[in-house]
Amino acid sequence: MSDLRIEKYSIGVGDRFAHQAKAQLSAFIRAAKEGAQAVPVWNKSNREHNIVGSQPTAVRAAADAAVRELGWKETYHVDADHINLGTVDRFMEPSDFFTLDVADAIGKPADPAAVEAFLARHSELIGRIEIPGIAEPFEIKRERASAAASKYLFAVSEASEIYQKIEGAKGKGKFITEVSMDETDSPQTPPELLLILAAIADEKIPIQTIAPKFTGRFNKGVDYVGDVQQFEKEFGDDLAVVAYAIKQYGLPDTLKLSVHSGSDKFSIYAPIRRCIQKTGAGLHLKTAGTTWLEELIGLAEAGPEGLDLAKEIYAEAYGHREELCAPYAAVIDIDPAKLPSPEEVRGWSSKQYADALRHDQKNASFNPHLRQLLHVGFKVAAKMGSRYLEMLDKCEESIARNVTENLYERHLKPLFLAK
Ligand SMILES: [Zn+2]
Repeated sequence: MSDLRIEKYSIGVGDRFAHQAKAQLSAFIRAAKEGAQAVPVWNKSNREHNIVGSQPTAVRAAADAAVRELGWKETYHVDADHINLGTVDRFMEPSDFFTLDVADAIGKPADPAAVEAFLARHSELIGRIEIPGIAEPFEIKRERASAAASKYLFAVSEASEIYQKIEGAKGKGKFITEVSMDETDSPQTPPELLLILAAIADEKIPIQTIAPKFTGRFNKGVDYVGDVQQFEKEFGDDLAVVAYAIKQYGLPDTLKLSVHSGSDKFSIYAPIRRCIQKTGAGLHLKTAGTTWLEELIGLAEAGPEGLDLAKEIYAEAYGHREELCAPYAAVIDIDPAKLPSPEEVRGWSSKQYADALRHDQKNASFNPHLRQLLHVGFKVAAKMGSRYLEMLDKCEESIARNVTENLYERHLKPLFLAK
């Protein structure tokens, strides 16, 4: 059997409570009808499983059921998102896509002998490097290459160990490999990305998606914060580096960039679309938590019972703000002074709740602080257990409408279909 290859365009979809796979898949079906061939990759990180108290097998079961019920004929995948050596085991069986998270290993200095050997093997990474599609050639001094090798080689060797473990369990070519370096302090520059890909090729990891940390802030559930022009230039340079590395180092020709925390980054979708259309590059973009927020909007719009539960979740999240935000400190910016009090929210109508939460920047009532707090507040719903899940069933129509609309109108369409 031939190796499992990732399609050109794929979107990571998160489904915290394993209830929205059908509504999510409907967005892809709609996009396909309009001419955008993107496939869904259901992803849920180990951290999210721990918070919700769920198992990776449930993600697979929900994805398979949705595909069966809606008759989806294209491929789809289940991503063991942000796993490492210690956490990968329970993902082995249900996943066919693995995101090897080595961000914590970045900066742990590599063995100096390994750095020397790497630089001796890769003299092409020192000096003037001309890459098709990048106007200014890189000028890389030996010290800089050496510092970058020292910073990243240990992380790459860790990725290799995780990869070997998965290959041992699943077999070569039976799964898609992503390496993620996004959850770290500083972005990787295009020359660093090239060096990292060279090191990954040395380790013979058949990488198909790579998630660098890009310039700017990718906060959860809200728009990109940063210099959009700078982002577009770096994203374009990264694409050129990826295309070059595929040829130079014999990496899989499906290799493409993966954008993490990619949901709701509306201001960079047009730049991303321009870059991939211009170069013919592929794209993977993870949208994880945006669907859970649509569940809340759907609840609020479904009637008094759903609205009450949505308000209760806000009140609880407000009360446990610090505890909920702590694991996500690096990827949220909440000004507590801008959060409405639970008493105020208790008096809101369906429309007021939905307007505050829905990511419509043209709506003056939209509140990004409330949205980010609720984004990390899924633990509150998890604690409600069957009470929350039963309400999801009861309000299914209203929720599904919001989930599909959000993925299609605000994500798939601007990324792949807008002119
Ligand atoms: Zn990530």
